[in-house]
Amino acid sequence: MTRILLFGCNGQVGWELSRSLLPLGEVIALSRNQADFSRPESLRDIVRGARADIIVNAVAYTAVDRAESEEALSHVINADAPAVLAEETKRLDALLVHYSTDYVFDGAKREPYVEDDKPNPINAYGRTKLAGEQQIQAIGCHHLILRTSWVYSTRGENFVSTIFRLAQQRDELGVVADQFGAPTSARLIADVTSAIMSKIRHEVNFGAEHPIGIYHLTSLKHTSWHGFARTLLDATQGAPLKTTNVAKLIPIPSEQCPRPAPRPKNSRLNCDAIKTRFGVDLPDWESSLLRCLAEMTERDTVR
Ligand code: NDP
Repeated sequence: MTRILLFGCNGQVGWELSRSLLPLGEVIALSRNQADFSRPESLRDIVRGARADIIVNAVAYTAVDRAESEEALSHVINADAPAVLAEETKRLDALLVHYSTDYVFDGAKREPYVEDDKPNPINAYGRTKLAGEQQIQAIGCHHLILRTSWVYSTRGENFVSTIFRLAQQRDELGVVADQFGAPTSARLIADVTSAIMSKIRHEVNFGAEHPIGIYHLTSLKHTSWHGFARTLLDATQGAPLKTTNVAKLIPIPSEQCPRPAPRPKNSRLNCDAIKTRFGVDLPDWESSLLRCLAEMTERDTVR
């Protein structure tokens, strides 16, 4: 039976993975209390003890603005700890699945980014995530690095929950309209990860080598943060807000929303390679969002 070691099971993607990976084998799902990425060396015994065939790392330091003043800690969690996982993965001849971000790019390209485009991060978070990618590649274990963007989920703090909260508190809400990307649900990332794992297992059983490389994994089509918020509020028409007050959305330029970490204007990732290589079907971001909202509504109704 395939043994899968999952780190970060309480995060957006990790929580969805702890469900979607189950059909693939025995899943050992660990949270921060059981595996502290700020102490990378402590991870070696955990990996050796688990003797997993696949190691999935959904841990990350994801506080993009705070990373500007905590780059050293962010680097430990996003680069040094994944490097230890990569070394241990190599020792076990296992497979490491790791996630990265659109923020490794500077956003200056006019077209969606392909995997081979040159990274050039413009904030500390992006630099530490790029360092993580590079360390894994340099160590050379079997690895899949899945770069994604604008992640949201039915639980925890994310853009969806923030817009729902602010839309109730304010009459007008300025939302950035000059950064473009693909909102991607944690559930989609987890489902596609599992589908890929299943395909790889099948290939390896028939004698193929584990694949190695970086792939882009987001929903299809793109929008701005303002477009995302607009669709969100239009789709729900205030339903999960449980209020009659829904803020008027105002499109604003990034300059009117200064934050410690600059964001790339173009966050669009071209996903052709993952579709071709693994035969996965990616939905557009609006249908993924509607599915997520339906899940939230159903959960609230059941409660
Ligand atoms: P979350 O912030 O939801 O989850 C991150 C997880 O990392 C949490 O479970 C958190 O634990 C854990 N963690 C943080 N610090 C430590 C630590 N020191 N030791 C152990 N665990 C720790 O992230 P997402 O699920 O959204 O992100 C998944 C992946 O996708 C990451 O690689 C991220 O870089 C990437 N990504 C995310 C984007 C986004 O918009 N969120 C965009 C693009 C890429 P705890 O629950 O205890 O806090």
